[in-house]
Amino acid sequence: MKLYCCECTADVEARLTDGREIYPHRPDLGSLPFWKCDTCHNHVGCHHKTANRTRPLGCIPSPAMRQARSRIHAVLDPLWKSGRVRRKAVYAQLSTLLGREYHTGELRTLEEAERVLEAVRGMGQVQP
Ligand SMILES: [Zn+2]
Repeated sequence: MKLYCCECTADVEARLTDGREIYPHRPDLGSLPFWKCDTCHNHVGCHHKTANRTRPLGCIPSPAMRQARSRIHAVLDPLWKSGRVRRKAVYAQLSTLLGREYHTGELRTLEEAERVLEAVRGMGQVQP
């Protein structure tokens, strides 16, 4: 499947594999599907709990991108889980910022991730 790879900065032909290859020391993850870039060896997980269990979560992140995504979720999730801001409103605002529908898994560059992180931090400072 053609997927965007953040490390290769290109659409690559990703290979479907499973947790036995990606996490050999985690037998509990062995049966989970993953898409792997054989050029840079990064990978992305799948929406494995849905009907189309091999549908990728987004583009293939580099290690730095993976960290950037975690940092975003660490700020973004508590924001809407607290009930102070509606999840839908947060995502709508981020979609406007990027000019396309926002999914953390589909961020392509660290620059985009930084912009999102800054925006989300700003939303957190707004008091009800
Ligand atoms: Zn790659």
